[in-house]
Amino acid sequence: MEPPSIHRLDEAVVNRIAAGEVIQRPLSAVKELLENSLDAGSTSISVTLKDGGLKLIQVSDDGHGIRYEDLPILCERHTTSKLSKFEDLQSIKSMGFRGEALASMTYVGHVTVTTITEGQLHGYRATYRDGMMEHEPKPCAAVKGTQIMIENLFYNMTARRKTLQNSADDYPKIVDLICRFAIHHKSVSFSCRKHGATRADVHSVATSSRLDAVRSVYGLSVSQQLMIVEASDDDPLSSIFKMEGLISNFNYIAKKATVVLFINDRLVDCGALKRAIEIVYAATLPKASKPFIYLSIKLPPEHIDVNVHPTKREVSLLNQEVIIEKIQSIIESKLRNSNESRTFQEQRMDPTPCVSMPVSKDPLSHPSPSGSKSQKVPVQKMVRTDSQDPAGRLHAYMQIKPCSNDKGSSLLTSVRSSIRQRRNPRETADLGSIQELTREIDSSFHSELQDVVGHCTYIGMADDVFALLQHNTHLYLVNVVNLSKELIYQQVLRRFAHFTAIQLSDPAPLPELIMLALKEEDLDPEGNEDAELKEKIAEMNTELLKQKAELLEEYFGIHIDSSGNLSRLPIVLDQYTPDMDRVPEFILCLGNDVDWEDEIICFRTIAAAIGNFYAFHPPLLPNPSGNGLKFYKRDPSDSHEMRDTSKSSDSVKEDIDDELLLEAENAWAQREWSIQHVLFPSMRLFLKPPTSMATNGTFVKVASLEKLYKIFERC
Ligand code: ADP
Ligand code: MG
Repeated sequence: MEPPSIHRLDEAVVNRIAAGEVIQRPLSAVKELLENSLDAGSTSISVTLKDGGLKLIQVSDDGHGIRYEDLPILCERHTTSKLSKFEDLQSIKSMGFRGEALASMTYVGHVTVTTITEGQLHGYRATYRDGMMEHEPKPCAAVKGTQIMIENLFYNMTARRKTLQNSADDYPKIVDLICRFAIHHKSVSFSCRKHGATRADVHSVATSSRLDAVRSVYGLSVSQQLMIVEASDDDPLSSIFKMEGLISNFNYIAKKATVVLFINDRLVDCGALKRAIEIVYAATLPKASKPFIYLSIKLPPEHIDVNVHPTKREVSLLNQEVIIEKIQSIIESKLRNSNESRTFQEQRMDPTPCVSMPVSKDPLSHPSPSGSKSQKVPVQKMVRTDSQDPAGRLHAYMQIKPCSNDKGSSLLTSVRSSIRQRRNPRETADLGSIQELTREIDSSFHSELQDVVGHCTYIGMADDVFALLQHNTHLYLVNVVNLSKELIYQQVLRRFAHFTAIQLSDPAPLPELIMLALKEEDLDPEGNEDAELKEKIAEMNTELLKQKAELLEEYFGIHIDSSGNLSRLPIVLDQYTPDMDRVPEFILCLGNDVDWEDEIICFRTIAAAIGNFYAFHPPLLPNPSGNGLKFYKRDPSDSHEMRDTSKSSDSVKEDIDDELLLEAENAWAQREWSIQHVLFPSMRLFLKPPTSMATNGTFVKVASLEKLYKIFERC
């Protein structure tokens, strides 16, 4: 068969395809228009809709208007007044910047713009089609600002118009969107009505009080039950952000959670944060477990990538997990404090580090710094309550080399580059088998253990594999390898088909990786046929994985190119890159252990293989600060310089291979950093420990403070 010839698409076709992405439905058109009005400094914006926006969307504002000279290019693609250089994106304050919204609308609907700028006697009206102004702007009477009208949306996209007409219309969604904007932009008044209706369905009044803004759109029944929350962090090593918001209390009962999230003044979705908050509510206020939440988070502009999604609905943050964890704990303490009707024996807050308590002669006589109201806590009930406070950690007593100080900046670049690849996020996978697998996790987890991981304080590593943690008055040893394996497994299933990617700097050829792995497992180092056999295995596995490349790429973010090189791996935990020394083993495992026939088993085994690969294994280099130091001593017979064998013990140090030692020290310190700052925060949020972990040695309770005190009292 002859190859079909390749030709350049007509620009109009390209534009129409692009437009379909930016303007997916009437809701997205309204959002873009509202953002334009806000960018124009409006204080009053009104929206009118006919047929859920399909027949007519009209947005009128009182902003600065559009210059007469700009009208001819207003609706061309990539024309904007908000951005000139790519670098401006780093500090952009306006909501728009792509110059695509109006253009897109003209490719899928009929657009009419009426506008007047300050000091003019009359305004102008112009109509647009396919990016072009149809005729000279006509002078007309106008009130301050701009009015944009979109008629017959998707008139030229029959399929989309049909599906939209058949489904419930966008009107309620648009009303909901305007309510959300109204509480954040409290000094702007918004209204929304159906065409021909005399009453508006939302009508907010400009106000200086956030609570008033909520009341004017959601009503007194909501605003009465809200509490103010605030949080901030200013530590470049963990996170920098400011957050303020309103959260519902134990009296607020609703069928559905409402989470309104603005990050740097952009209305965005953040599934992980939403879930984290819902978990706190379910654990603290089971009756009011569907909360109302409004949060406004401000981050340094360079920590956030706004250019992730064509509709700008998603953003990516640096240190997302740390930030989520902080917000979660602030909300939790707010809820606990507010809920006077319930008592909590455990987790009394006391800022005095508990480690010092037993040393002090009479700890109870210290005045409590938190004021008169706080009750005294018996020492044996004192626990490390602040997981961020290093006072209670082993860490504080050990000298740790600042190995990861330069993480921040390099991380951002890696976050950015990884984000670029996530252009067209698919809707959540609706494959039954994935739902089945996540149901498996949800239906058989151990709730007590979840409470332990969810509320524990990380103390430090006890050895290569076990970490020490405190939960209430109990001390546990937990197996970090098992826990991380399970967490990764669960996260792979949750992020299924939605992975961002780690790009390998050099694509790795599969046959070589497999050969490497096979050499490691060598059973019979002598056999010569063995070598041939191995090559055969490598070849067959490579072929197999190449065949499965599409599935691996689409669902798991593992990219294998057509010549059989591994070039991308998925990001399963933000800020964490697995140990690349384990790639060969992983590839061998994909080839050998995955059952490709049965969908459920296939996904389960792939997720487990990723779990095994990404788990926080001890580094392959022996731990130099444990008893591994001996491995870094040079073998004297290796050394070319002839040395005196009767050296004094002082010079023993010189025999250590410094380079290797440094590498090992770094690898171990890096792992410990990641365990504390990535693994534990993510486990608190996401891990649902399976019941088997209660008995297989993953959790070992080693002490309970009450019991220890009994013993010490007797001495
Ligand atoms: P973007 O918002 O990304 O710049 P748009 O296509 O949404 O791109 O808008 C193009 C330009 O039109 C904007 O940069 C702005 O200068 C102007 N504009 C659009 N809507 C309005 C409005 N309601 N009031 C004033 N100017 C507007
Ligand atoms: Mg815009």
